[in-house]
Amino acid sequence: MSVGLVDTHCHLSDRRYDADRDAVIERARQAGLTHMVAVGGGGPIADSEASYELARRFPFLRSTAGIHPHDAKSYDDQIEARIAALLQRPEVVAVGETGLDYYYGHSPHQAQREALARHIALALRAAKPIVLHCRDAEADLREVLSAEAPGGLRGVVHCFTGGYEDARWYLDYGLVISFTGILCFPKSDALRDTAARLPLDRLMVETDSPYLAPPPHRGKRNEPAFVTQVAATLAVVHGVSTEAVVEATARNAGELFSLV
Ligand SMILES: [Zn+2]
Ligand SMILES: [Zn+2]
Repeated sequence: MSVGLVDTHCHLSDRRYDADRDAVIERARQAGLTHMVAVGGGGPIADSEASYELARRFPFLRSTAGIHPHDAKSYDDQIEARIAALLQRPEVVAVGETGLDYYYGHSPHQAQREALARHIALALRAAKPIVLHCRDAEADLREVLSAEAPGGLRGVVHCFTGGYEDARWYLDYGLVISFTGILCFPKSDALRDTAARLPLDRLMVETDSPYLAPPPHRGKRNEPAFVTQVAATLAVVHGVSTEAVVEATARNAGELFSLV
């Protein structure tokens, strides 16, 4: 199976898919997606285990294991052991999502920084990439990354909404950048300007579904099939064909998540 359009970040184990998960996955395949990365960390560690079970069921699905920054305060040795066990599995291709979210602040900043540091250690030990979430915490994220992995890291800053200088730092550090449907929102001119200045060969696309549905589905439940809109918008922004975007982002996703 060669790599084409990939939803590099979707929460397929979310309960909002309980009634029709298989149909959602089938629609994504019909829309032309070759792979999906079912990200763990949308809740307790059981969510990462459910994502892994999905990855075992479908050959075009992979999963990740971690605890979202919202839940960082619950991070402990027992959870870490469960993440480490998942990382032994070939279907589990990355650590995360982890990171810092100071916008919602569901966990204290210090707990988020500590959980992030421990996820970085797990990624280095497992030699797997890291999926990073960052909201209103760019400076602190850079500080933790620099302290815990001064030589750089393989991974992705998902749902990127920062500025050009932030993106430049991440790229220089070795990460790739991924865009969600936010790129398609009418008010996202600044983000589109930033995206236009970034090299296509370091970008990926994702839905972060069930959140962030792009127009014309905005406000409704998002699903992996809608990643086609993100790719199409990135193509317009870069003045290239959607095929060119699919090809470039497929190479990045394939390399980062060892997709075949
Ligand atoms: Zn996130
Ligand atoms: Zn997410």
